[in-house]
Amino acid sequence: MRGPLPQVLGSARREEPGRPVKDVCYLCGRSDPDTKDHVPPKTILPKGIRRMTLPAHRACNNEFSADEEYFRDVVGPPALDYPDGSDVFWASRRAWQRPQGRRRLRMILRGAKPVELRSKTGLYVGRGIQIAPDMARIVRVAGKVGRGVIFEDTGTVVASENIVCARVPAAAVQSERDAAGEDGRRFWDLMAFEQAYHTNFSPSVACRRVYRILASAPILRCEVNMVLVVYAEAFLMGAEIEIPDPRPGLLMVAVESEGTSRGG
Ligand SMILES: [Zn+2]
Repeated sequence: MRGPLPQVLGSARREEPGRPVKDVCYLCGRSDPDTKDHVPPKTILPKGIRRMTLPAHRACNNEFSADEEYFRDVVGPPALDYPDGSDVFWASRRAWQRPQGRRRLRMILRGAKPVELRSKTGLYVGRGIQIAPDMARIVRVAGKVGRGVIFEDTGTVVASENIVCARVPAAAVQSERDAAGEDGRRFWDLMAFEQAYHTNFSPSVACRRVYRILASAPILRCEVNMVLVVYAEAFLMGAEIEIPDPRPGLLMVAVESEGTSRGG
C-alpha cells in the first residue's frame, strides 16, 4: 500500500540529456578532465548500449577498473538468466581465460563452497558453487554509477563518502518494500512517485531516482534517493547534495518541505 506522497511544486527536465554539464572530472571535481568515462561501466552491460558519457581524469577512472572487472566476475554468472545478460557472462568467461582473469577467478573461488541448487518450489535442480563476494568492492562500483548519474542530472560532483549505498538481492526488493518501517516507506513512496526520473540502460539494468529539495536559494540543497538495478543486484542509494548553480532545464522534482500537512 502506498502512503501519502509529497505534493509536487514543479519539475523540469534538462533540455539535452546525455550532454556533460561541466568541464570537470565527475569523480574528483577538479578541472582538465582528460578522458570520457561511460556510465554504467562497459563491464556490466552488453555491447552497443547507449550510456552516459561523463568527463573524468584517466587516473581517477582507473582507480575503479579492478573493481569493475570484479563486479563483472560476480554479476556475470547470474546475469546469464537475464534477457541482455549473456554478453556479460561470456565477457567474464573470456576474461577468466587470460592470466589476470584467471588470478581473479582463483581469488573468488577461494572461499567457494558446493551447494545444492533448488527451484523456488524446492525442487532439486543440480549442484552449484556459492561464493561470498566482497561487498565493499561491489558497492564501490554501484556508488560510482550513482555518482555518475547525479553528475549527469545536476552537474554536481558527489564525494564517494557522501553517498550511502546498500545492496539487496533484486528478488528481495518487493519484500524490502513491504517490510520497510516509516522511514523506509518514505523512500519507497518516493521511488514509486510517477515523476521519479527513470533510465533504462538495458532491459535488466535500470536506475530510478528522486531529488527532494531541502532548502531553496541561494544554494539548492537536495536529498537524492536512488534505486539502481543491475541484473540480480539492487542498490539503494542516498545522498545529500548541494547544487550551487541550478539552471533552467535541470532535472528536479520539487516537493513540499517536511511537516507540511497533506491529504492522504
Ligand atoms: Zn578526477
